[in-house]
Amino acid sequence: MPVQGNAAPPSGSGPDEAELVRTAGQLRAAHAVGPPDLSGRPVDELVAAILSQHTSDHNSHRAFAALKRRYPRWSQVLDADAGEVADVIRCGGLADQKAPRIMALVRELPRDAGGEPTLDHLAGMEPHQAHSYLTSFAGVGPKTAACALLFAYGWPTFPVDTHVHRVARRLGWAEDRDTAEKVFEILSVCVPDYLTYDLHVGLVRHGRGVCRPRDPRCHACDLQDRCAYRAKIAGRHDDGGAVI
Ligand code: SF4
Repeated sequence: MPVQGNAAPPSGSGPDEAELVRTAGQLRAAHAVGPPDLSGRPVDELVAAILSQHTSDHNSHRAFAALKRRYPRWSQVLDADAGEVADVIRCGGLADQKAPRIMALVRELPRDAGGEPTLDHLAGMEPHQAHSYLTSFAGVGPKTAACALLFAYGWPTFPVDTHVHRVARRLGWAEDRDTAEKVFEILSVCVPDYLTYDLHVGLVRHGRGVCRPRDPRCHACDLQDRCAYRAKIAGRHDDGGAVI
């Protein structure tokens, strides 16, 4: 599993460092990306990443807060009733799917001396090892694992969610047909460690507020001067062709 480093990017794929630095700066300014707010709690971040799927930040944060209020320690989730856990996180959406996934994950984690599920041993691993290790747990994919490492420790693994996937392809950093896994591979090689957090958070916010799925606000976008999608649209206007 590739992670950030000094390897050359795949031929013809991904932006160079100067482009990434410029983009990160623009996104930082446009979306008020602040310094990383790291939790130091990878189990929390894994659960939060599961709760964040297919819902808004607001709702997933509410669901996580409700879960922690009801079960202050993850060991309390081990023997909880699945229906009750689902009811607690109902405000986060897809509760009947997310509750069993969270419970299965917590049950699978190693325990500390006090019987608490723990991932503290991640601290002794290299980021790429930690990423591979986390994806060995049921229900933890590359994006969820990367989120946990980035937001717990600030480690340079680049989560590719639906927004990063879309914006990166529109910018021409990847091919239209590239999967999220392929974009993850490209960005993991291209993005320098020091830009990982800012670029990830900036691209997610950009995808939510500006480069929206159905109606991207290209006229208000700071990146429009070098966006492949924008250029394609302009070309179609010039040719009198259809606009996607
Ligand atoms: S110019 Fe349009 S398509 Fe390109 S990144 Fe900006 S909003 Fe997205």
